Amino acid sequence: MNPNSLSRRELIGAGAGLLLANRATAQRATVAPDTTGTAPILLGANENPYGPSSKVRHAIAAAMERCNRYPMRELAELTSAIAAAESVPDDHVLVGLGSMELLKICGAVCALEKQTVMAASPTYEDLPRATRRFGGNLVEVPLDPEQRHDLDAMRNALTQDTGLVYVCNPNNPTGTVVGRPALAAFIKSLPAAVTTLVDEAYMDFVTDGATSSVKDLAISDANVIVLKTFSKLHGLAGQRIGYAIARPARLASLRSARVSLLPQLSIAAAKASLEDQSYLDTCRSRILAERRRLERYCDQAGLPYTVSHGNFLFVQFGARETALRQHLKRQGIMVGRPFAALPGWCRISIGTAAQMDRLYSALNRVPVA
Ligand code: PLP
Repeated sequence: MNPNSLSRRELIGAGAGLLLANRATAQRATVAPDTTGTAPILLGANENPYGPSSKVRHAIAAAMERCNRYPMRELAELTSAIAAAESVPDDHVLVGLGSMELLKICGAVCALEKQTVMAASPTYEDLPRATRRFGGNLVEVPLDPEQRHDLDAMRNALTQDTGLVYVCNPNNPTGTVVGRPALAAFIKSLPAAVTTLVDEAYMDFVTDGATSSVKDLAISDANVIVLKTFSKLHGLAGQRIGYAIARPARLASLRSARVSLLPQLSIAAAKASLEDQSYLDTCRSRILAERRRLERYCDQAGLPYTVSHGNFLFVQFGARETALRQHLKRQGIMVGRPFAALPGWCRISIGTAAQMDRLYSALNRVPVA
């Protein structure tokens, strides 16, 4: 039998999953409608499928009036608005062109200063990639068997040259989390010369009571940087807005390496989004409902997955990974790219109810070899 095809049992399981999926089809939205049509379904980049709220769209349109002006004042206003939303002082926030820009700066600075960067494997790759690109030394520590950061192994892998440890929490692509007590103890145990960079891009989707932001440690501890983004829950991936929370001295070295100010439209979008909490709550609950529905589908279809705290699920396709990816692509459904460190696994971003229905229906129609 072709190892890339689904067995009859799996197909029956998958069919049952679809039935369940249909029964659970989501509530009416106050967010953008599920207009999937025949357009490709993008389940590969962990974006918010609903996009920004109508208030944000209006704010972007209104900001066109200021497009001829450099956005110094507006950026300062956004920085204050973020600081207020995070309950941290203004001078502890640095806004970047997506958290990607800030991750790349950290990698470049460590490389220039000959400091080793440590990261889990697999994890989100902007920082590891930038470290390598700028000629720095990167130490990768495999996740533990449950696909979580292995903090003990990371501590054991420290050397005199280690300057920065990257903890992506929840981790991309696995969705696993490090509980706050363990992370706080880990940070405390590190030598004074080592900075911990905690990437909380997906913290808004965490449903584990023991896991929460460590932004307070970025205030109390000079060696902690927390990163956040407007690309996930806020639905603004295309506007490129992220930020770091850290002590002012720490932010000064990042600020000096920044590429640019942010565009007026992005600043306006982020400010308006912070003021639309009920929209964010609606997005969060719909995404979490669809994440649960995908888990149920996988249970029914006999597809193992890792319990996720992001807006995605890491699913084990096993030997059929390539065939399933190709099949989904032919059906116009794009899922996450393969991760060399965990072959056979596929990261599926959570879409709208209608998009997820299309995914289930495509999976149910995998050709039997
Ligand atoms: N950090 C993590 C963990 C991510 O998964 C991503 C994007 O997928 C980013 C940072 C980059 O986010 P941004 O869009 O703010 O550059």
